[in-house]
Amino acid sequence: MATRRPIVAANWKMAGSRQLGAELLEKFALLSDSSAEVVICPPAVYLDSLQQQLSEHSDTVAQHRITLGGQNLSHQEFGAYTGEIAGSMLNEFGCRYVIIGHSERRSMYGESSDIVADKFVMAQKMGLTPILCVGESLAAREANRTFEVLNGELNAVLDKVGIMAFDNAVIAYEPIWAIGTGKSATPEQAQEVHAFIRQRLMQLSPYIGEKIRILYGGSVKPSNAADLFTRPDVDGGLVGGASLNASDFVELCRIASESE
Ligand code: PEP
Repeated sequence: MATRRPIVAANWKMAGSRQLGAELLEKFALLSDSSAEVVICPPAVYLDSLQQQLSEHSDTVAQHRITLGGQNLSHQEFGAYTGEIAGSMLNEFGCRYVIIGHSERRSMYGESSDIVADKFVMAQKMGLTPILCVGESLAAREANRTFEVLNGELNAVLDKVGIMAFDNAVIAYEPIWAIGTGKSATPEQAQEVHAFIRQRLMQLSPYIGEKIRILYGGSVKPSNAADLFTRPDVDGGLVGGASLNASDFVELCRIASESE
């Protein structure tokens, strides 16, 4: 079986501060070793200062494989799109990853699966690795439509880019009912869906299916992370609320490293 290096990605959403970046780096400096990759996705206005903070702590950053990611990007390359952020700009501030298709963007900002697929294309064009979020609502789960919803969200991207584009991508399974609610999926529920996603990709390319990292997101915290991250098809987490507490987030990275 392929060894997949775990990733723990922090989605600060519209929260966090410059101070949080400094606190995080202080805590990471005290952590002896970690094999997980760490991706911090702050609001775009903090990327500049975080990039500077990372360069001032290059030893810690290298030791813990800390990189930056965007929370969103425009599907357009450049132009008159007030308020939007181009992939090239994320690149300029040191981002290697970008979250796309987060359920908050899909539901509150009307991002269709088609737009999400366009963003996937643009992210890769700009040299960024997309973290593609997929996940079902509570109503869909209760109606036994979880796999149908996931297939629809995955197919929208697969139809546009083809399976081999997933060679440079990460998937985050985020059940909408678990995001920010404090009610995580059980490790069994998460594993079942992660295995489904992996099988789906495996049918198209065993190489990609085996290799791709699938993160779980939805109320991950230090008390439930070990049980989630040690499931065979769970390769780390996308973390919202708990990433705003430096001690908790660093603890999650330690747990993910131990799960490898
Ligand atoms: C998220 O926003 O991607 C998320 C998983 O949030 P939380 O950890 O707060 O549920």
